[in-house]
Amino acid sequence: MSCKVSKEQLWSWIDRDAPELEEHLATCPQCRAKAAEIRAGIETVESAPEPATVPLSEKIGPYVIQRLLGKGGQPRVHPEDLQLEVDFGKLRSLGAR
Ligand SMILES: [Zn+2]
Repeated sequence: MSCKVSKEQLWSWIDRDAPELEEHLATCPQCRAKAAEIRAGIETVESAPEPATVPLSEKIGPYVIQRLLGKGGQPRVHPEDLQLEVDFGKLRSLGAR
C-alpha cells in the first residue's frame, strides 16, 4: 500500500494544524509514523532551547560556537538540529502559498 501524501504535505498540515491531517492519519499508518517523527522533531527543537551538553570537543564557549555556525538567532546549534532547521525553512515557504 502506498500513499500519495508527501512528507512536505505532512509538514504543511502539521504546521497549519489542518483537519485533513487527523482525517488522513486515521486511515494511513505510513503517514501516522511520519507525522509522529516530524512532531517528535519539533518537540525536540522547542523543548531544548538550552541543551545541557555541547557535543564539541573544543569547549571554547557558546559565543565562539555561534560565530562558527553563523546562526545569530540561535544560542546553540547542534549538528543534528541542522536538518530540522532546513525543514522549518521549507515549512515556511509551503505555508506561505
Ligand atoms: Zn498517507
